[in-house]
Amino acid sequence: MPTSYENLALYIDGEFIQGNGRIEQPVLDPATGDTIGQLPHASRADLDHALAAAERAFATWRHVSPMERGAILRKVGQLSRERAKEIGRNITLDQGKPLAEAMGEVVRCADHCDWHAEECRRIYGRVIPPRTPNVRQFVLREPIGVCAAFTPWNFPYNQAIRKIAAAIAAGCTIIIKGPEDSPSAIVAIARLFHEAGLPPGVLNVVWGVPHEVSEYLIASPIVRKVSFTGSVPVGKQLAALAGSHMKRITMELGGHSPVIVCADADVERAATMLSAMKFSNAGQVCVSPTRFFIQEPAWDRFMARFTELSRAIKVGPGLEADTRMGPLAHARRVTAMAEFVEDAAARGARIENGGERLGDIGNFFAPTVIAAPPDDARIMQAEPFGPIAACVPFKDLDEALRRANSLPYGLSSYAFTSNTRSALQIQNGLEAGMVNINHFGQALPETPFGGIKDSGMGSEGGTETFDGYLVTKFVTQMD
Ligand code: NAD
Repeated sequence: MPTSYENLALYIDGEFIQGNGRIEQPVLDPATGDTIGQLPHASRADLDHALAAAERAFATWRHVSPMERGAILRKVGQLSRERAKEIGRNITLDQGKPLAEAMGEVVRCADHCDWHAEECRRIYGRVIPPRTPNVRQFVLREPIGVCAAFTPWNFPYNQAIRKIAAAIAAGCTIIIKGPEDSPSAIVAIARLFHEAGLPPGVLNVVWGVPHEVSEYLIASPIVRKVSFTGSVPVGKQLAALAGSHMKRITMELGGHSPVIVCADADVERAATMLSAMKFSNAGQVCVSPTRFFIQEPAWDRFMARFTELSRAIKVGPGLEADTRMGPLAHARRVTAMAEFVEDAAARGARIENGGERLGDIGNFFAPTVIAAPPDDARIMQAEPFGPIAACVPFKDLDEALRRANSLPYGLSSYAFTSNTRSALQIQNGLEAGMVNINHFGQALPETPFGGIKDSGMGSEGGTETFDGYLVTKFVTQMD
């Protein structure tokens, strides 16, 4: 085991708790398959401890001023920037992404902390004019209570900090179960909040068998809100469970993002930008561009450049300086990629680049470009969540929009055009929570991030970020 990997622990009621006889799960380096750490699972007693601690802490945390809450968040932002290298290195070790991407993730999260620290001062209520002069009518927005959050392994720092910062800034307390495959980021976050002086019980970190932990926490009457980032099928299960207990939800689920490249676009620029985005984090990104609709006159130019750029990507262990794309986070993603490619090839698509596992150590898969799969190929129907771009030609914009909107997903979308009328038709026509035209500008702390249709419910970031963490109380008072 590398000596410098994170000392994995539970974090409950302000204490870091080691294995001490609990079930432990090995954590693997996806670049080598080596075991790098042991992650303790929470027992039932640990989950009850976390629930009780979060409930007790809520009674006081809800009354702490937004200025004090913000000060702690700002401190965590500052510590994130200072420690980005060591935290990023551990993320590379247990998740696989190149070190620069891992450090970038941590630094960008510092902005999320700062923004939530500022924005929580502006959780305003309102005064409603009364029907008689001796009555006062107020609308108060109060923290909802104890939140349960479940976050995935692709951006282990980012997905967690978005939920933690929103809950804590709103005056809620939170129990988070992170990704057991890539746990170091959330343990690091707990250490920063601990150091920044967060009172015990406001943030609690637990690990375990995902469905066992989520079912137990969601069913508890102590939990008032459920937030999940992950796949659509799991999101639907958790939303149904939360619904049966009448709990508020925020769901950030999968996508199958369409890209529309019009013939009038700067095709060279589009290919360059899309190649960089497609293969970042080995395509394991919920907003990764995945279905590329290219207008026929631009097809040859786009495909030549995009394929050339994908061939030039250096794949390797994330800690090596010249690596542009790391391994997939776990072995099951490699199998999933191979199945997408096999199905597309069997249906007559051309594999322009990649399409196969690289080497026999670690979870490496080549950047893959698939040309002209039929619309019923699996790669055009199901989210690949990996380094595969499926490219198809289209004739006119109506056709591209119809095909782009044909799936139940509705997370992110992209388009390149130099025609303002086409840009307007695209932004009005795409069924997606986010539309990026001629650049990529989503996922900033100040902008709302979320999907429609099967891709989820609610937004993180933007002024919408607190909506899921607050309840509305109407007060009417007569003198
Ligand atoms: P998965 O659906 O089994 O797990 C995804 C995440 O959800 C993991 O972190 C897992 O620990 C968690 N999870 C699974 N079941 C859970 C449950 N019952 N309760 C609480 N948490 C639970 O899939 P996977 O093989 O780990 O990842 C592949 C799929 O996950 C992809 O196809 C993609 O759709 C989805 N995914 C989406 C995002 C996102 O940002 N929206 C992130 C990671 C994974």
